[in-house]
Amino acid sequence: MIGRFAPSPTGPLHFGSLLAALASYCEAKTQGGTWLVRMEDLDKPREITGAADHILRTLEAFGFEWDGEVVYQSERSALYQDALSQLKANSLIYDCDCSRKEIADSAQHGIDGLIYPGTCKYKANVKAPYASRVMVHSNPIAFIDVIQGAIQQNLAQDIGDYVLKRADGLYAYQLAVVVDDFEQRISHIIRGADLLDSTPRQIYLQQLLNYPTPQYAHIPLASNARGEKLSKQTLAPAIDASQASMWLSQALKFLGQQAPKDLEEYPISNIWQWAKQHWDIQKVAPHRNHPV
Ligand code: GLU
Repeated sequence: MIGRFAPSPTGPLHFGSLLAALASYCEAKTQGGTWLVRMEDLDKPREITGAADHILRTLEAFGFEWDGEVVYQSERSALYQDALSQLKANSLIYDCDCSRKEIADSAQHGIDGLIYPGTCKYKANVKAPYASRVMVHSNPIAFIDVIQGAIQQNLAQDIGDYVLKRADGLYAYQLAVVVDDFEQRISHIIRGADLLDSTPRQIYLQQLLNYPTPQYAHIPLASNARGEKLSKQTLAPAIDASQASMWLSQALKFLGQQAPKDLEEYPISNIWQWAKQHWDIQKVAPHRNHPV
């Protein structure tokens, strides 16, 4: 069993990312597995200087212990390029020089942005700089999520051909995550439910690249008092390691674990001991409304 936590260094760790770290860590530890940390620092324009180190120091201060070295996606472009070349050799991708405006003028809204209408699929002359898109089909992609249950998506209807490498040369998250989860032999992926809609795109790439599909579990999203998902965009407060016991206890409770009421008063090592003895992913509810 190999699990992972894959933060993007676009800001400090917040409660939502702590939930993903904690759930994946507890699951790995209770199964006697390995837990890896991968820094998803591909999107350099969105990166905040110092955030990667800050996230790692915060994890450490909370008492997380990862196995092996932290992997940085920014150092792994050759792997992403290999996967892209493999797809190209099998005629599964095409070049696209559509501007955002051209797409916005002709596309319909899907579940995650605009559904690319396939404009460049049969275009003879595509001008540089261009993006690379993978061709999708309309056979449903289905999987059973450990927390969310049976999930199904039709990529052609819901998403459209999606970008694997952007026109500015950046490899897309969907490609990098699939290549890395395979290269790192990740068997169990536990992360926030905001990525549930991305999972069929990732399973589809795994199928095209002949990679196995890991087991997926998407934990409920934490929201703030305004009902907004906690994220860097909604300015979720950074979690402070000086209050690690409080944050860890709240996170365990949010994840449905029947922790003792006074868990937050335990020393941090006892909280970890409790968590490693009692963690049960079956207790995690698919949705939570309670604000933090
Ligand atoms: N890097 C992504 C994020 O911070 C998570 C990717 C994943 O777990 O697949 O939202």
